[in-house]
Parts: sequence; C-alpha cells; structure tokens
Amino acid sequence: MTLNDQQNEFLYTKLESFGYSPNEIAIVKACLTGELIDFESDETELQVASQLVNIADYNLFGSSFYYEKMALYDLDEQKCQILGIKPFVQVSDQIISDLLAAQLDFQKDGYQLFVKEGYRSKLTYAYVYIRKALKSSRAEADRIYNPLNRPHSSGMAVDLVLFHNGKQVKMRDAAAGDDGLFYGYYDHLSTFSLFQEYLIAVMRNHKFNLASKGEYFHFNHRHLGAEPYVAFPIRFLAELRAIGFLDEPIILG
Ligand SMILES: [Zn+2]
Repeated sequence: MTLNDQQNEFLYTKLESFGYSPNEIAIVKACLTGELIDFESDETELQVASQLVNIADYNLFGSSFYYEKMALYDLDEQKCQILGIKPFVQVSDQIISDLLAAQLDFQKDGYQLFVKEGYRSKLTYAYVYIRKALKSSRAEADRIYNPLNRPHSSGMAVDLVLFHNGKQVKMRDAAAGDDGLFYGYYDHLSTFSLFQEYLIAVMRNHKFNLASKGEYFHFNHRHLGAEPYVAFPIRFLAELRAIGFLDEPIILG
C-alpha cells in the first residue's frame, strides 16, 4: 500500500466528515502504515465500552471477527489493542435478552445462533473502511462499510450465522464475492435465500431488523433508530417451515 499520494490523503480527510477527530485519524493512519506511536484513549469510546458485556457470560456463542481474521486484515495484537478489538464478542447489555430469546427459537428448530461480530469500535470502522478503499476502491468500501452511522459501535448491531450439528450453515457461496452479502442476490427459492429469510424472519420476531445496506446477516436492534430499516418481502416463519428446507441445510466445511 502506498499512502502518500493525494488520493490517499483525501481518504483520511474524508474521515473528518464522518466525525473523526484529528487524533483518531492519526491513530487509524498509524495502524495502516505500521508507524505506531503512543496515543491517548478516546473518552466517548470508553463510555460506550462501559455498557458492553461479553456474550459468552450469557451462554451466547460467537467469535470476534477481526481478532480471528487478524492476519487477513493486516492486524496484530498491538494494533488490535489500539483499535479496541477484543478476543471475544461484546454487545450492549440492552440487547442481550432479545438475543437470548432469538437463540431459543433457533434451538427449537435444531439450529444454533452464532455471533460473528457485535461491538466494533469507531476506530476499527475507520481502519477497515480506509483499508478496503486503498486495497480495492472507495466504491467497494462504501458498499460494505458504514463509517458515518457505525451501527456496530453502539453495541446494538450484530452479524449472525447459524450452526447445525456443530457446522456452519451455508447462506452464500464464495463465487458471488461481495454481491452475495446482500439479501435478494440469490433466486427467491434457492436454499441460500430460504436460509437467509429464515434468519431474518426469526430475528425480526425479536426486534432485530436488517439495516439500510441490506446485508442478510447484519441486524440492527430496534433501539437503534438512527438508520432507516429496509422493508424486505420476507415470508412468514410458518410458510418457510412448510417448505421443509430446514431439514436439509447446506453445511460449510
Ligand atoms: Zn454488520
């Protein structure tokens, strides 16, 4: 990555328009260039962090996305610490009871809810956004990240997958690339679509909605009123169950 040309500088300036302070921009830039120095912690980040809980303490399953994929995102332990990336999944204590209720519904059908990501710090949002923009394009970064509203930074947004008999249920294929991240990409009757709808339908019953980007796995709790919810035509659970697809999931690995 070359970070010195005018276009790259423009990206860092763009962070200002997303509400980042000069200190925060310097931190993100340092993590991307590897020129790490000592920084002060941000006050507002610390305040949000005080409401976060470890989902494992509530018998919810999950793994910390960027911590697990550290190498893929050019991160190491030190950068994770600076950006606020923990080895476990954290969410706001205000959404725990609804997550647990959803988990119970999935378990009744023989499935296990698994949280791929919960809380994501403001700094991590900036880091992954700029990194994606530098590695591919700004359009690609804008498509999958939301560094302006930052729903995960509230601790009230989650990225979810389902497990069946200990293995992850496949809801998209690698060949689709980023296109496969969005609900509506696959044919309405494909098994991928049906499982995406099942996930969405159960979560909707527990106050979680898809967000404006329409990623099938990303849910904002209704406490988070900042973003408009997308009203997708999702079938009712009874109708989905009647199709019988739950008995034969496509499994990863
Ligand atoms: Zn998400």
